[in-house]
Amino acid sequence: MTDVEALRQQVAGLMPKVRQDLERLVRIPSISAAGYDAEPVRTSAEATAEILNDAGLAARVIDGEGGHPAVIGSISAPDGAPMVLLYAHHDVQPTGPEELWSTPPFEPTERDGRLFARGAADDKAGVMVHAAAIRAWDGRPPVGVSVFIEGEEEAGSEHLPDLLARYADHLRADAVILADSTNWRVGQPALTTSLRGLVGCTIEVRTLDHAVHSGMYGGPIPDALTALCRTLAALHDERGTVAVPGLKSEPSDPLDLQEDEFRAWAGVRPGVEMIGEGGLTERLWTKPAAYVLAIDAPRTKEAPGQLVPSVRATVGLRVAPGDSAADAVGALVDHLKASVPWGAELTVLDSFSGEPYRV
Ligand SMILES: [Zn+2]
Repeated sequence: MTDVEALRQQVAGLMPKVRQDLERLVRIPSISAAGYDAEPVRTSAEATAEILNDAGLAARVIDGEGGHPAVIGSISAPDGAPMVLLYAHHDVQPTGPEELWSTPPFEPTERDGRLFARGAADDKAGVMVHAAAIRAWDGRPPVGVSVFIEGEEEAGSEHLPDLLARYADHLRADAVILADSTNWRVGQPALTTSLRGLVGCTIEVRTLDHAVHSGMYGGPIPDALTALCRTLAALHDERGTVAVPGLKSEPSDPLDLQEDEFRAWAGVRPGVEMIGEGGLTERLWTKPAAYVLAIDAPRTKEAPGQLVPSVRATVGLRVAPGDSAADAVGALVDHLKASVPWGAELTVLDSFSGEPYRV
């Protein structure tokens, strides 16, 4: 029988060390995106392995062939006890424009009781959750533990299938805990038992062989950017409900989440309406969501007086549990093709898909 109160006290006593280790990790700019220096990602993998070793786990850095290094480690199971696989990732997203940060992105700074820095939450805190759990048991938890800390989650996990295959024996487990999700609200822990899948595609819309002068040709001839805007507008109906036919959704129990609170977290501007139908929990967890991720088109500062001949856009779709990623990306592509106006040419250049999940 576990003495929960003793464990709680043990965890509280560990927090200064956990905080110190977290700050050490977030000072390493382990950006995994293409075009950034790969060396800090290796430094971050090495630091992660050290922290886990220090917590009582035999951990080491492993190389994904052509990818960023991951960290694996394990503690064997006591007789008859199950194995639990602990997942997190030690790489981070690029910072974006640094002048938009209130404090430097790789300098952990406490404000209002929270620690701010790139990766402080996503997902170096996840690494620390696992290390702290092992420390809380003095390195001898009542279950066997495997740890897998990925180094390129933020860059699309291209080498993850290879690593999973190569280290299958090491990673075999009865349960997996991913510490890369969200708390329900600050100070209130949560278990995530379902996640929407993620699919999308990049399309090109073309109306002309080449650009032509808008004064000489504008009127009878459609430009590609207007055709793209009308195509993208078909992703939602007037209320903002996803209008792609054939996507599945499910009911969901309402949770204690108020619209005002949710708007404030997201920073929604005062007059902007919430879109879609049904409860907030359903719209967030068990219904699809569609959005435009990017458009390649002439820049406003350089806009010439021409009819734009071709443009590209990337569209994303969150797929409800119970749906299939392949069906959803097929439905998305069919809908975009059916929605492009005036006979404009629509080509799908690329697509991506990840399955939804429910425990
Ligand atoms: Zn993450």
